[in-house]
Amino acid sequence: MDIIVCIKRVPETAEADIVLDAGKKGIDTDGMVFSINEWDNYAVEAAIQLKEAQGGKITVVSAGPEENNEVLRRALAMGADDAIRLTDPAFEGSDAIAMARILAAAIKDIPHDLILTGVQADDDGFGGTGVALAEMLGLPYAALVTDIQLDGDTLTVHRELEGGLEEVTAVKMPALLTIQTGINEPRYVSIMGIRKVAKKEIAEKSAGDLSLSGDDIGVKGSLSQIEGLFFPPVGEGAEIIEGTMDEKAETLVKILKERGGIA
Ligand SMILES: Cc1cc2nc3c(=O)[nH]c(=O)nc-3n(C[C@H](O)[C@H](O)[C@H](O)COP(=O)(O)OP(=O)(O)OC[C@H]3O[C@@H](n4cnc5c(N)ncnc54)[C@H](O)[C@@H]3O)c2cc1C
Repeated sequence: MDIIVCIKRVPETAEADIVLDAGKKGIDTDGMVFSINEWDNYAVEAAIQLKEAQGGKITVVSAGPEENNEVLRRALAMGADDAIRLTDPAFEGSDAIAMARILAAAIKDIPHDLILTGVQADDDGFGGTGVALAEMLGLPYAALVTDIQLDGDTLTVHRELEGGLEEVTAVKMPALLTIQTGINEPRYVSIMGIRKVAKKEIAEKSAGDLSLSGDDIGVKGSLSQIEGLFFPPVGEGAEIIEGTMDEKAETLVKILKERGGIA
């Protein structure tokens, strides 16, 4: 079974002090720690578990600068077989559609039974690349996948819906799945494991190698453009309760009673 996993390198924003860049269309990533997009880490683990059960080959693909080799090597250390980095100044400014076009151009010539992406990227969060990629490659897909069972050439997948509902869907391969966090427990990657793959070659492909023209990618090939980023103004209504723990609890109970939260 040949599996391709698309992985993105993203800045860790949860605990960071975010500062906008000069153009106010992105964030200043200087000094930020980067890692594999969380959803993609689960997707790599899902691919490895399928390979362990079925045999086959896993290729990881990432579009971005040389630093993306870190996340590609991490995936190789987890158990992927090959890694490809897609890199070209012409890719800059690509939205999810143009990014899907870049990924599709690279993937179409690699044998694949299954393509896995994350549901969304932790930073830009379009949540659109995976399904756009499926459409461009003419593949059936399932989004928000939380469980995968394989029977012959059919995947039975669970999809997470609103309100705690789960849907069970059968998808015939070749297919694309967008993987939700929590589907598995991604394996630990040791420094030793990463050292072992330090010399493994990572193939590189440019826009020219992929026969992509400037009209298909970057800002020109994108259907959306970022107009600006801003921090929402701090709203009224937040009240910091001061005092000792007992005083805080007493005040909180009083507020909840006054506002009908508790009887
Ligand atoms: C107007 C605009 C300008 C941008 N300019 C730049 C820029 O100059 N430089 C830059 O680095 N980024 C830039 N980006 C972000 C970048 O192109 C995004 O990767 C792309 O828009 C996909 O959207 P997303 O990251 O929200 O992915 P989502 O759709 O949320 O991601 C879903 C999944 O798609 C896959 N995926 C997404 N991106 C990649 C990737 N790069 N490689 C492999 N797999 C991937 C992953 O599996 C991920 O889990 C820009 C985005 C926009 C909208």
